[in-house]
Amino acid sequence: MVKIGVLGLQGAVREHVKSLEASGAETVVVKRVEELEGLDGLVIPGGESTTMRRLIDKYNFLEPLQQFGASGKPVFGTCAGLILLSKRIEGQDLTHLAFMDVTAKRNAFGRQRESFEAPLKIKGLEEEFIGVFIRAPYISEVDENVEVLASFNDRIVAARQGRFLACAFHPELTDDARFHQYFVEMVEESKKTCIEQ
Ligand code: GLN
Repeated sequence: MVKIGVLGLQGAVREHVKSLEASGAETVVVKRVEELEGLDGLVIPGGESTTMRRLIDKYNFLEPLQQFGASGKPVFGTCAGLILLSKRIEGQDLTHLAFMDVTAKRNAFGRQRESFEAPLKIKGLEEEFIGVFIRAPYISEVDENVEVLASFNDRIVAARQGRFLACAFHPELTDDARFHQYFVEMVEESKKTCIEQ
């Protein structure tokens, strides 16, 4: 069984735990740097990216998280987590973990669309997946090494770059664990290749 951490500084932490456990993973809520140890993968939840960054700095998480990402273990960012994973953020110079060659646009769906749900066609999932968007970002640009997994109205809302996965919506706020299952399989795959090497 793989062990997956959920960064527990802010956001829908328990909901991610529930979806990961429904997908057959063991979980750890990571509130202290030491709790990153022994994990096979990590989820960075939604919330508010500037607040989350403040908490990351306050609890000295930046470097350990960067090392975790560099170690070859999979990381999945949802919503604000997507912003934290992006190498470029429109309209600001400050980036955070910067693992993925994508540009994030924050609060990108406009005021009248602060929160909404939309059925999405996600690459790798057979049936449609209901995307819950809450003041969501989208990905406005991807480099060619990034695989687009889902778009909504021509906006990219889910992408994968090797062991990094990001989505603009909140899969943890539905009872449908298929997207978490997709991540758990990425983690299982990466653990297997680590052991074989
Ligand atoms: N708008 C938030 C941000 O910029 C993200 C929203 C979310 O995670 N639900 O960080």
